Amino acid sequence: MEPFDLVVIGSGPGGYVAALRAAALGLKVACVEKGDLGGTCLNVGCIPSKALLRSSELYHLAMHGLAEHGIEVGSCRYRFTTMQERKEKVVSGFRGGIAALLRKEGVQQFQGSARLTSPQQVVVQGVAGEQILDSKSILLATGSVPTPLPFAPFDEQRILSSTGALALKEVPKKLIVVGAGVIGVEMASIYSRLGSEVVLVEFLERICSTLDLEIGGAFQKILEQGGLRFFLSSKVVAIESKEDGALLRFEREGRLQELAADAVLVAVGRKPYSEGLGLERLGIATTAQGFIQVDPFYRTTQPSIFAIGDLVEGPMLAHRASEEGVCVATYLAGKPAHPVDLMAIPNVIYTEPEVAAVGLTEELARQLKRKVKVGKFPFQFSSRGRASGEDKGIVKLVCDETSGILLGGHILGSHASEMIGELVLAIEKRMKVSELAFLPHAHPTLAEAIKEAALAALGTPLHR
Ligand SMILES: Cc1cc2nc3c(=O)[nH]c(=O)nc-3n(C[C@H](O)[C@H](O)[C@H](O)COP(=O)(O)OP(=O)(O)OC[C@H]3O[C@@H](n4cnc5c(N)ncnc54)[C@H](O)[C@@H]3O)c2cc1C
Repeated sequence: MEPFDLVVIGSGPGGYVAALRAAALGLKVACVEKGDLGGTCLNVGCIPSKALLRSSELYHLAMHGLAEHGIEVGSCRYRFTTMQERKEKVVSGFRGGIAALLRKEGVQQFQGSARLTSPQQVVVQGVAGEQILDSKSILLATGSVPTPLPFAPFDEQRILSSTGALALKEVPKKLIVVGAGVIGVEMASIYSRLGSEVVLVEFLERICSTLDLEIGGAFQKILEQGGLRFFLSSKVVAIESKEDGALLRFEREGRLQELAADAVLVAVGRKPYSEGLGLERLGIATTAQGFIQVDPFYRTTQPSIFAIGDLVEGPMLAHRASEEGVCVATYLAGKPAHPVDLMAIPNVIYTEPEVAAVGLTEELARQLKRKVKVGKFPFQFSSRGRASGEDKGIVKLVCDETSGILLGGHILGSHASEMIGELVLAIEKRMKVSELAFLPHAHPTLAEAIKEAALAALGTPLHR
């Protein structure tokens, strides 16, 4: 086989996007995948979770949100198998889409497990045997896997990872979620809306610990009003899997407590996945947590080998992986490439209301000794929010006191995932809050709250 310019290992949002872009820029590219095309994001992450979030949200709306609009639906039931089938259909449709895109760009696809045998050679172990791929450069994009608790391995029956929780055949009557981070609260929302009694047990004293403190507190209150129960500052010490359920023990305020449920979802984080790649043999350096060390252009300590996405330290997010993939492809094609600015990578929690954030939280900005000004606007005063019945939450902007440059933007509110784009642009372009404050926003829209928060940061609030 002719040598490639680039062999990409992994077809998640990092790998397949890198392969597509590199091929479009004229490189001869191969992409190796040992599982399903699309990686974690498409198969067991972003997309299936958002499909179930939407189905459960519609059911919840029909049950609890329509009456105030004068709509009576009578009896309303859901069929969980149909929700799961719909989710599968969405996922498999996109899988086919990725295969077609790779074909269209001329990326050669290999199915099998890849390992590195030299700085410029990959061996693929597939069902039909081994294939040797020589390449000028290699991109590692093998992602991450869920971390189990050391005393409670996943059995995907009673002790679930997010993968198991997305594939349940029945809605559990009682569900315990260990870890109140992004994945924990999203999964808790799905099952709580479908009628599960959900309790979240979190080691830290706050939920979703990377959120701005004030936003996180307000978010927790809204989730509690919606029926979720939280045990914070609680250390899980045992999970017993039983015939008819699971028993969880945790320590809180010096006391040992017990909770029983049909199943326990352990969502305490994910770890980089590089098993079997043969990193040590090639002297590719990793951190103590197993992340591959890279330079600003994602080059590992072996110059012909690059690494991106969940495999590299930073926020474990699909769009970050894709941006990094584009950067490596562009760099290898000899075009001007820009390393990804992590300050401008938004993160979103797809609950109702949603939470979206970009840049620094107020606490982090203050810890960094920045003098900051804050502007806020609650959706309670938003005309669109009130008219639509989507008036929970707040926009909070953090800017530098002297220059007025936006340092961080935080939105707790319906459709925050769509609104955050404006703040990403503002952070990326180093805009001042005054520029946001004088930007016309369509009326009535939820996004007007961004303008109002900017006006508040300038000390000239309008609709307060
Ligand atoms: C439940 C859940 C919900 C999420 N929701 C969101 C969200 O809403 N938004 C968001 O931005 N992020 C979300 N994420 C995170 C997102 O899925 C990851 O950040 C993203 O998938 C990382 O992309 P990646 O390309 O680095 O790796 P991955 O998507 O993990 O892909 C890695 C691929 O490499 C393959 N592979 C591994 N080893 C080998 C090998 N030796 N040979 C060949 N192939 C190999 C794997 O099979 C896999 O397909 C979610 C994650 C989970 C679990």
